[in-house]
Amino acid sequence: MHNNQNLEHTTHILHLALPKMSELAIPVTPENYAIWYDYFAETNLNLKRAIDGLIANDVKFTPEVNLGLYNRFIEERSPEIIENVQIETQILINSLVSKIELLGEGTQNFSANLSDFGAKLATQLNADELNLIVLSIAAEVEQVIANNRHMSNSLVSLSDEIANLKSEMDNLSKVAMTDELTSLNNRRAYELFAAEQMTKFADTQTVCSLLMIDIDHFKLFNDTFGHLIGDKVLAYVALAMKQTVKGDDLVARYGGEEFVVMLPNAKLHDAVNVAEKIRERISLKKLSIGKEKKQNLGHITVSIGVATLQTGDDVDTLLARADERLYKAKASGRNCVKFD
Ligand code: GH3
Ligand code: MG
Ligand code: MG
Repeated sequence: MHNNQNLEHTTHILHLALPKMSELAIPVTPENYAIWYDYFAETNLNLKRAIDGLIANDVKFTPEVNLGLYNRFIEERSPEIIENVQIETQILINSLVSKIELLGEGTQNFSANLSDFGAKLATQLNADELNLIVLSIAAEVEQVIANNRHMSNSLVSLSDEIANLKSEMDNLSKVAMTDELTSLNNRRAYELFAAEQMTKFADTQTVCSLLMIDIDHFKLFNDTFGHLIGDKVLAYVALAMKQTVKGDDLVARYGGEEFVVMLPNAKLHDAVNVAEKIRERISLKKLSIGKEKKQNLGHITVSIGVATLQTGDDVDTLLARADERLYKAKASGRNCVKFD
């Protein structure tokens, strides 16, 4: 969709959703806004049918009902839809910034805050929830502009509100992107990060490399020592990986006992070095648990496949190549790194 059309579309939905929410006494929280955005955007017909059913039966939109809708229809939205909302939000903010700038003197501080806010969003756009908060701020700003009354007071409080929302947003974003057991990034965070790397490669030919890491014979480890100790070891392996890489690198739990490490700017040679460091660090550590009655757990090892982004790749082919090499590492005895 063209930018202007996009903006019009978003604003159109905004004008439909907010009055309806107010009519039904639904608080404009990011979660609720996400529901009603989808309802009017008609991107999810199941959600639309469910809501129409509720309205037809005069069901009250209690916090429980709202949460139920959110859990059923919004949380599992596909990354494409989330990305679209993010792009639309960014466009909306940009246009608000320029509108506010048109209002001239006296609103300059607020305008600077909002620009700043927009710029931060551009780099930290993560969870869809965040952007929906922004949409509701945007609606308020639009209202403010339309009324053009008590301008400076409203703008000051709005600017405070934005600061509060910002910290709330950071929080939400962290929760949505974190794996609970290991505190690493989760798969969703990895996917967003990987997509960014693809764009960077397309734009500037900057390469990146991917490590796919799988714990060796972990089923046996669990069977021997129990799942709870297995969980602790997963958290330990996560920490060991995190401590081996640099700040720009992303370590994520891909699932179960599999991890990925995305290394921006790293060529194959550099990535293999990092992989070796991780492998060695983990294999050398003698694991034990408990303070007094120390239980020895022996050693744990990992196998690693390494791949570097090349022309013609997408996220899937890069991951498939790393995975293929991981399989080779397993086949050739485990506790090793394969890169071709
Ligand atoms: P391989 O060397 O071929 O990778 O053998 P493996 O036993 O590690 O591989 P397999 O895929 O057969 O088993 C993976 C095991 O990882 C199965 C499961 O017990 C364990 N696992 C996966 N997720 C978790 C988790 O969250 N906690 C614990 N404790 N174990 C997990
Ligand atoms: Mg596995
Ligand atoms: Mg394994």
